[in-house]
Amino acid sequence: MLYLVAGLIVMEKNCVICNKIFTPTKYRPQAQEVCSDPVCQHKRQLENMKRWRRNNPHYFRQDEIRGVYWRELYRRRIRRWRKEHPEYFKKYRDRYKAQHREYMREYMRRYRNVKKRMLQQAEPQPPISDILS
Ligand SMILES: [Zn+2]
Repeated sequence: MLYLVAGLIVMEKNCVICNKIFTPTKYRPQAQEVCSDPVCQHKRQLENMKRWRRNNPHYFRQDEIRGVYWRELYRRRIRRWRKEHPEYFKKYRDRYKAQHREYMREYMRRYRNVKKRMLQQAEPQPPISDILS
């Protein structure tokens, strides 16, 4: 939707993720479909990465084509870098600790629900004494 504020054309849109009204960037107002909320932006980035992986399924196959020797070299290089920068991953973990905990909580909740459903749908088993005799 377009309207005028102090002589300027202002546009408003609904975010395609949270559906809240937002004002898109003046640089590419037609293109922006997601609001600037960090949660919406994170979802948008994940979606973009997923789409990219779907459209480029063999992109990382390049590593496999380079062969076993190259892969081993690469692994050693990463291992050495990690050893030389031990604080990097500690800082990274600390930064995303709360987010990771929330993710794991949700993951385990879903896991338990699936397990419960599977147990409910499973055929009743005969008692263990019947099987052993
Ligand atoms: Zn949004």
